[in-house]
Amino acid sequence: MTGSAGLETDVLVVGGGVMGCCAASFLARAGVECIVIERGELNAQASGMNAGSLHVQIQSSMARDTDPAKQAAFESMIALNPDAVVAWRVLAEELEDDIEYRASGGLMVAETDDQVRLLEAKMARERACGLDVQLLDGGEVRAIAPYLSERVIAAEFCAAEGKVNPAAATPAIVRAAKADGARFRNHTELLALTIERGGFTARTTAGPIRAAKVVNACGAQAAAVAAMAGLDIPVRGKPLHMSVSEPTESVVPHLVQHAGAMLTLKQAARGNLLIGGGWPARANPDGADASVLRASIEGGLWVAQRIVPAICGLRLLRTWAGPSISTDGKAILGEAADAPGFIVAVSAHSGYTLAPLIGRAVAAIVQGKGAPFDIAPFSPARFAVRRSAAAS
Ligand SMILES: Cc1cc2nc3c(=O)[nH]c(=O)nc-3n(C[C@H](O)[C@H](O)[C@H](O)COP(=O)(O)OP(=O)(O)OC[C@H]3O[C@@H](n4cnc5c(N)ncnc54)[C@H](O)[C@@H]3O)c2cc1C
Repeated sequence: MTGSAGLETDVLVVGGGVMGCCAASFLARAGVECIVIERGELNAQASGMNAGSLHVQIQSSMARDTDPAKQAAFESMIALNPDAVVAWRVLAEELEDDIEYRASGGLMVAETDDQVRLLEAKMARERACGLDVQLLDGGEVRAIAPYLSERVIAAEFCAAEGKVNPAAATPAIVRAAKADGARFRNHTELLALTIERGGFTARTTAGPIRAAKVVNACGAQAAAVAAMAGLDIPVRGKPLHMSVSEPTESVVPHLVQHAGAMLTLKQAARGNLLIGGGWPARANPDGADASVLRASIEGGLWVAQRIVPAICGLRLLRTWAGPSISTDGKAILGEAADAPGFIVAVSAHSGYTLAPLIGRAVAAIVQGKGAPFDIAPFSPARFAVRRSAAAS
């Protein structure tokens, strides 16, 4: 609805990445009126720059973290991953467009005995969280993955892992959300929120918007938006590096990771090899677009060619850096106790994997229904309340 005082909506979703778009899609299909505002273009930040890996097993950098609090946080998150991949499969079946969803399994390779021991310890933790994983020896690995180097002496196989194409998937979700009635406003930045009885007034660069509820899906900028509702959440941007090769014949069906080095590698439907794995990028001083580091280009490609030698003959097509999101290790999901109607939807790691599941949870929270998983461990109530909230 548009009145002289600006737009009105039941739910204002702030942030047009995959999280906000999924939330809007599930809200709209449930018949809840919503508007998504995005300060730039939809899917242009982390969601459009990520690797599209559908992660299930614990990533090796997390497996090496010995802080018990971090370990517990990772375990609470990976327990969600199998359902998250199922949520992507369901979306892939429902959406009209091909989002290049494949769940052909993931391999985390080991080159040394120490790395095999890390995989064994990791698998014990994963099985305790209900994950289905198995250790393959070198011969078994090469039987299903002949493209891997002879250096690989073992690998952890997780059949549930896979991939999706973020450049196809988020726009397809947006199209479905629009068809169900969700509205989207690009180039509309949230500047301030006033908490009022029965809702919020959002001051935006495109004028005021009045909403009964607000969803904060601002990814790396979620802390600034949470502060507008008086909430202090520890969210920071963490720029990461990606490389992509020219297309080649279909060689790598799996999501490949490394137990001892930073590597995620997969082949896109068009044949390009996508190489990432947590290599850092440089954050620019103003916090805007990150830039690539030569050391990350060289380091990432060095690991990749060591494990998948077929890469050696290929040209590097493009590199880029995107703003990944860092929290206390867990997603921040739920309604703020001190600002009823203000809902936070921020993932920690693997946010693309988790987005449809978290989007469904957001729609349930908005409607006061049960979420598809226990959201209590992810509540923003675990953080301090800022007393300067703009309540009126
Ligand atoms: C290089 C890289 C590789 C990755 N690889 C993977 C992977 O393989 N698998 C995986 O699962 N995850 C991966 N991730 C993580 C994943 O991309 C993110 O967790 C996920 O995309 C987060 O989605 P989001 O919608 O929360 O954030 P974003 O996509 O960043 O969207 C947030 C949006 O909010 C907007 N916004 C911010 N402030 C305001 C405001 N005040 N008003 C209006 N709009 C605002 C921003 O402009 C932005 O568009 C990767 C991340 C990076 C950077």
